Amino acid sequence: MSDTTTPGANYRIAILDDPDAIRKQHARMRPIADRPKGTLVVHEIYASIQGESTFAGLPCTFIRLTGCPLRCRWCDTPHSFKEGDPMSIDAILEEVENLSPQLVEVTGGEPLSHPECDELLKRLADTGRKVLLETSGALPIDSVDPRVTIILDMKCPSSGELESNHYPNLAKLKPGDEVKFVMGDRVDFDWSVDLVRKHDLTRQPVLFSPIYGELTHKQLADWIMETGLPIRLQVALHKVIWGPDVRGV
Ligand code: SF4
Repeated sequence: MSDTTTPGANYRIAILDDPDAIRKQHARMRPIADRPKGTLVVHEIYASIQGESTFAGLPCTFIRLTGCPLRCRWCDTPHSFKEGDPMSIDAILEEVENLSPQLVEVTGGEPLSHPECDELLKRLADTGRKVLLETSGALPIDSVDPRVTIILDMKCPSSGELESNHYPNLAKLKPGDEVKFVMGDRVDFDWSVDLVRKHDLTRQPVLFSPIYGELTHKQLADWIMETGLPIRLQVALHKVIWGPDVRGV
């Protein structure tokens, strides 16, 4: 498979069946293919203010895992595609313990690329912390621990990854999970509203975010008001506080 092919849902199904499929099936996953047994490749662990979702504003520990099979045009974490070090789940939990927030988010990259992500989420939830998973919406969420709040990042047309969306995930969302759309133009907006209506997604929080530099918050606010739907406009708080290009915040 070439580096430009998107594997979509079949990727995670394949790796759950056969972890070696990572190496065999997708060049983009080579950075995590050679990790020692029992480890995940971790790009960074840090505490900051949660910038997005309905948890925005709260202190949060972020665990950013390396690797993503997608290549969204506007991705703001391309450094997580390759950079990272193998860590055991025990070592990750120890770092989380050393940081104070009771809110923890596992993000990426695409965290569900790691077959061990389910076990990491379970162990984090066992600590009693509130656990969030930010996932691209391309890989099945079926096996994620039900104590974990999923933030499902559906890919709009201008992302270039529309074909990667795994739509059966939408029926698997549980109360409290959130659905996020990052959009750059009116085509993205109309596509997102259609999906929200078609799948009755306002049963849970629906988050609309503008792509920085392409769509203003004001324009998106006006469009949201036209819909009459309870859609939440997201302002990426961490970018407001620290600027759009700062890493590790
Ligand atoms: S899914 Fe997330 S990490 Fe992967 S390319 Fe898209 S924005 Fe970047």
